[in-house]
Formats: sequence, C-alpha cells, structure tokens
Amino acid sequence: MHMIKPDKLYFGPAGVPHKAKKKDTLTGIETIKELGLNAMELEFVYGVKLNEEVASKAKDLANQYKIILTAHAPYYVNLNSNEESKFKNSIRMVMESAKALYLSGGYSVCVHPGWYQKSSKEEAFERVKNAFKTISRMIKEEGYEVWVRPETMEGKAKFGDLDEVLAVCEGLDYILPCIDFAHLRFRNGWNDSESFKEILNRVEDSLGKEALRNMHIHISGIKMDKAGTHLNLEESDMKWREVLEVLKEYRTLGVLICESPNLEEDTLMLKKYYEEL
Ligand SMILES: [Zn+2]
Repeated sequence: MHMIKPDKLYFGPAGVPHKAKKKDTLTGIETIKELGLNAMELEFVYGVKLNEEVASKAKDLANQYKIILTAHAPYYVNLNSNEESKFKNSIRMVMESAKALYLSGGYSVCVHPGWYQKSSKEEAFERVKNAFKTISRMIKEEGYEVWVRPETMEGKAKFGDLDEVLAVCEGLDYILPCIDFAHLRFRNGWNDSESFKEILNRVEDSLGKEALRNMHIHISGIKMDKAGTHLNLEESDMKWREVLEVLKEYRTLGVLICESPNLEEDTLMLKKYYEEL
C-alpha cells in the first residue's frame, strides 16, 4: 500500500471555500493556498463529477502547494441495502469516488455506510462488513492507493456508531475510520476531553497506533435537534478546543476537515488554535 503518509495534521474545509471566485475544484485549491490552509475535501456528495483532466491538474496543484485532498462519497450510498441493484450501485459510487480522488493525488475518501432500515444491528454489520471487504479487494485490484473510510454517524437510524465503524475496519487493507467528532457528540453525548481521549484510545486498541498516524477527522458545531444540523463552532456547544488539545496530546497525524457552514472561517480558527498549542 502506497498511500500518502501525513507528516502532521492538515486542516481544510469540506468543499471549495466560500471566498473562492469560482466554485470549482482548481479555484478551490488555489484559494486554500491563499488562505494558508493545507487540505480540502472534494464533495462528491451529490455525485462524482470530476473529469480526469481536472483531476490531473488538481494533483499537480496540490503537490505543488503541499495540500492534501480528501473526498466525501455520495450521500445516496447504502451498503446495507438488501436490494441487489442499490447495493451494487452503492459499491460503484464508492469506487468512483476512490478513483476520482486517486487521480487527483488524494489521500482518503469518507463514506456514510448506510441505514439499518429493517435490519437488526447484527444483520447490518454483516452486510456492511462484507461490502467493505469487497471494496478493499477492488481498491487493491484497481490500484487506487487511497484510504476508504466508513464514517461515524450521528443518527440512531444510521449504521455507524464508533464500535461498528472500528469493527468494520478491523483486518481490512485500505480501510480506516473517518472520525466525526460532531456526529459522536450528537449520537453519544461525548463532548469533553475524557470522551475525546476514549475515542482515540478505542481507535488505537482496535486498529493500532498506525491508525492515529493516518486519521481522517470531521468536526463542526452540531445542533442537538432531530436532524443534527451542522452549525458553526461558536454557535454550538462543541468543545472544539478540547478536541484539538487531545489530538495534539495523542500526536495524531492526518487530515482534519471542518464541516461548519462558514467553511474556511472555522477551519482557520481551528488551525490557528492548534498551532498555538
Ligand atoms: Zn459525512
């Protein structure tokens, strides 16, 4: 496996910064550089629309500026679907995301694994684990050298509490977790230093120290309503300073993507606080 090996924690927004003059990937990367940030998540959430020429230019730019690119797979993915066509389509969307990111010279793709629907937790686990086994094998066959990551999810209707996500990753090449602190705050109420340490301890216990040196993290504020709407950090009670302190203490390496609606504003605040620790 020859994925990018991060030498520090990189900071970027979930998508092209608001400040970018044009809302395309290449202008986005240029704007990341101007802002003094060093990562950006490509949002394939409504479909993978990145042609190979743009991907190749994105790769050159990101290399030149030492920016790490990540991606977010489509929201329509459901790796627990019991309908054959939906399941296959979900695998296809994950693979297309991985390919587009790989061609862009990127690092890591996060995936919302799916919904329990009528499945028991055990049935859902079985199906999602098998899906990631297949994805791991296909990534290897295709030679897409990127991580693919089940994300920890907020809602109880969605597959992806911390234990499920870690168990999915265990024993599979190319598969590591995407730890979304806002989602875990919503789902489990975890919002203090002890909880954040516990999350990282569990990552290390399941997947080893290497996992802490190859993190893909999401953070934002989150509204404790039914939908778990993303908020800007200072409009929420998210203990983001404590998250960063724990990440620093654990010498976590990888990419931290900020999903606040104000995108680069909170990302800059996070990066500044982290660097001053
Ligand atoms: Zn997500």
